[in-house]
Amino acid sequence: MNKFDVIIVGAGPAGTTAARHCAKNGLSTLLLEKEKIPRAKPCAGGITLAAVKELDFSLPHEITERTCTGIKIYYGRLERVVQLDRPIALMVTRKNFDGYLTDKASEAGATIRDREECFGISQEPSSITVHTKREKLHANILIGADGFYSRSMRTFRNGFDKDEIRFCVMAEIRMPAREISDRFGDMASIHYEYVPRSYAWIFPKGEYISTGIGVALPKYSGLPDKLREFLKQQELRNDVKITGCFLPVSRYNHDVYTNRIMLAGDAAGFVDSFTGEGIRFAISSGKAAAQTAVRAFERGDFSDKCLKYYQERCYKDFGEDLQHSNRVTDHLFNHPDLLLSTGMRNQMVMRQYARTLAGELTLGNYFRWLKKRMPYYILKRFLLFEWAR
Ligand SMILES: Cc1cc2nc3c(=O)[nH]c(=O)nc-3n(C[C@H](O)[C@H](O)[C@H](O)COP(=O)(O)OP(=O)(O)OC[C@H]3O[C@@H](n4cnc5c(N)ncnc54)[C@H](O)[C@@H]3O)c2cc1C
Repeated sequence: MNKFDVIIVGAGPAGTTAARHCAKNGLSTLLLEKEKIPRAKPCAGGITLAAVKELDFSLPHEITERTCTGIKIYYGRLERVVQLDRPIALMVTRKNFDGYLTDKASEAGATIRDREECFGISQEPSSITVHTKREKLHANILIGADGFYSRSMRTFRNGFDKDEIRFCVMAEIRMPAREISDRFGDMASIHYEYVPRSYAWIFPKGEYISTGIGVALPKYSGLPDKLREFLKQQELRNDVKITGCFLPVSRYNHDVYTNRIMLAGDAAGFVDSFTGEGIRFAISSGKAAAQTAVRAFERGDFSDKCLKYYQERCYKDFGEDLQHSNRVTDHLFNHPDLLLSTGMRNQMVMRQYARTLAGELTLGNYFRWLKKRMPYYILKRFLLFEWAR
C-alpha cells in the first residue's frame, strides 16, 4: 500500500503522538522513521508532569527510572532547593520512552515503517508525495515531526534563524543506583550561568546520570572541555563520551504550516528557551496536528487556509507561553544578579515555578504573577542589603 490519508515523518514524541491520534480517529496513517526503532536520542530525558498530563495513557513503571519531586538550583555561591510533595518530573531513557509511544501509535492502528528515510517531498495539486529509497508514498496531509534538521520544513521555508538555535553537549555516566540515590536523591540539579546565559544539568536516572550544558550560537567552541571541567568540579568522572546536538528555540517569526503540511515538535521550534523543555510541546503539537488533520478531512479541505487553524491552536495552547518565556529568559540572562538571584532567594517564586513544571500553573499565568511581585521582591532585597551572592 502506498496511499494513506496522513503520512507522518519522524517517530519522536511529536510524530508518535500525531500518529496515535490520527489512527485513533480513523485516518489511515503511516509513520516513517529513518532509524531502527527503538532509536536513541541525545536528550536529558526529563519528562515534566505537565508533559505527562498531555498523554492520554499512563506510562508503565519500567519506563520511569526515577520520579523527581524537587530541583536543586545553583547560581554562583547561591544554592537553593525547591520541592513539592508530589512529582515534578519523571526521568526516562528516550529510547525506551519513544519506543513505548511508538507502540501506542501502532496499537491505535498506525502503520509504522522504520529504517525508511524521507528523501524528498513534492506537493501536487491533489496529494503530497513522499520519496523514500524504496518507493513513492502518497497522502492528503503530511505532518513533519522530523526534528531540528527537518526536511519537511525545508520544502517550504529556510531553517531556523541563528538566534533560534542552541547547541548542547551531553554525557551519560554509569553509576550504581545506590550511589545515585545517595548523591543526588530524587532531585534534578541545575547550575545556572556555568556557561553564559544558560545552565549545566545533572539528571539522575536508574543506573546512570545525564549531564550536559547548552549555549546559544555561536559560542560553542570549547564546550566539550567546559563540560569536562564541570564534571571534575562536581567530582564526577570526566573521561566520558560527549555528544553534541542542536536545539531549536523558535522566536515565532515563521509559519508552521502550508498547503497539506504541518510541522510539529522540534521541526516547528516548539522548545522553551529557559528550560530547554521540548517533549511537552512535541506531544501537544502532535496532538493538535492530528486534530487539525481530522478537521481537514471532515471539510475535505487540505489547503493552507484550513491548516492555519493548527498554528492558531498551538499559539493558544502553548505558543504564547513560550513567547513570554523567550522574553523572560532574555531579561533573566541579561540581569542574572538582579533577577535570577532575587527569584532564587524567594521560596514562593521557586515553588510557583515548580508548579508550572508539574502542570498545575501555566507559564503565562506564572509570568503574570511574577511581573506583579518582582519589583517588590527586588526592593525588599535591596532594603535588606542582601546583595552578596
Ligand atoms: C541535549 C538535549 C537535552 C534535552 N533534554 C530535554 C529534557 O530533559 N526534557 C525535555 O522535555 N526536552 C529535552 N530536550 C528537547 C527534546 O529532546 C526535543 O524537544 C524533543 O525530542 C522533540 O521531539 P520531536 O518528536 O519533535 O523530535 P525528535 O525527538 O528529534 O524526533 C524526530 C525523529 O525524526 C526522525 N527523522 C528525522 N529526519 C527524518 C527523515 N528524513 N525521514 C524519517 N525520519 C526522520 C529522527 O530520526 C527522529 O527519530 C533536550 C534536547 C537536547 C538536544
